[in-house]
Amino acid sequence: MNIHEYQAKEILRRYGVAVPGGQVAFTPEEAEKIAKEMGGEVFVVKAQIHAGGRGKGGGVKLAKSPAEVRQLAEKMLGMQLVTHQTGPEGKTVHRVLVAAGVDIARELYLGIVLDRAVSKLVIMASTEGGVEIEKVAAETPEKIVKEYIEPEVGMQPFQARRIAFALGLEGAQIKHATKFILALYRAFVDTDASLAEINPLVVTPSGEVLALDAKIGFDDNALYRHPDIAEMRDTNEEDPLEVRASEHHLNYIKLDGNVGCMVNGAGLAMATMDIIKLAGGMPANFLDVGGGANVETVRNGFEIILSDPNVKAVLVNIFGGIVRCDRVANGIIEAAQSIDIKVPMVIRLEGTNAEEARVLLKNSGMNFDVASSLAEAAQKVVALI
Ligand code: ADP
Ligand code: MG
Repeated sequence: MNIHEYQAKEILRRYGVAVPGGQVAFTPEEAEKIAKEMGGEVFVVKAQIHAGGRGKGGGVKLAKSPAEVRQLAEKMLGMQLVTHQTGPEGKTVHRVLVAAGVDIARELYLGIVLDRAVSKLVIMASTEGGVEIEKVAAETPEKIVKEYIEPEVGMQPFQARRIAFALGLEGAQIKHATKFILALYRAFVDTDASLAEINPLVVTPSGEVLALDAKIGFDDNALYRHPDIAEMRDTNEEDPLEVRASEHHLNYIKLDGNVGCMVNGAGLAMATMDIIKLAGGMPANFLDVGGGANVETVRNGFEIILSDPNVKAVLVNIFGGIVRCDRVANGIIEAAQSIDIKVPMVIRLEGTNAEEARVLLKNSGMNFDVASSLAEAAQKVVALI
């Protein structure tokens, strides 16, 4: 799960990570009030969407007074912000962060992520802050320094200092940066984060080290341990079909193709997508309906798959191991009768009572195309499209 910048900063503050003052606003009036209460001469109004590149896209603006903050918020709230991470359709801005303007001497990069290849967290830092780190990694990888953290002992102060030196920091800046990096690491581990990115990490003319931007992603499987973080979820930022699927406990990921897939088991779902591509088609989604495919899950699955206008045919591939195929077939028939399905459907059921299931499907009076092998099913569905 991802959260907004202002929420990430709230969490970081709790751990003693230095963050500029600021608060979220949902209306221009709120934005003005926040600026007035905060005081100061320069404010920054920042669109809160789950995507980077807001600065270049017009989602980060400077203001010289609370009245100007209000005007900027008025323009930004409700706008469709397009950045290189949102896709051409952009994202609607529903909230803005009103932050204190910060004097910037240097913009650096700092990130923490799990390196799966070595099973360790890695801290990455670069003097090339403010730009996309992917670009730095591709063009000038020598400008990224890394510290791997031993999980048994956690991050050590000398490692934080080593990063501070590598970033060319001096004097009191080193002390501030070390404190910052260690606090960020603690926040990361404590909250079961999977990614933390501070871009830019800024050094002010007086030597302070601050998180000007913050992005944190969390491990969904650990969210039950953090109800306060789970509450920060903003479903506006997620694909509406994926939100609906998660309400029904279905694992659904929308893709770009036109073959809707309904499969039980993540492994079989992956294999089904592969076979569709092998047959010359493109899957419209990944959907794992889970072990026990009953009428309810099948109906919810169909409704979600068919809400995607790109879907031109559906392939159902279910292995009856935990459930019996005849029960699944009855579930499919009942679900298909209760909703209006306008696209052709190929069904392949294998496992316990597969033969009975095929007879049920063929005699159902519904327009199902029944296949017996996975290859045959994939070829049929691609041919139908
Ligand atoms: P994004 O990564 O989405 O473009 P950032 O929060 O990194 O958004 O902001 C983009 C740029 O805007 C920063 O690199 C910085 O130069 C400027 N900026 C952001 N917040 C502030 C602030 N509080 N004070 C001064 N400048 C800021
Ligand atoms: Mg940024």
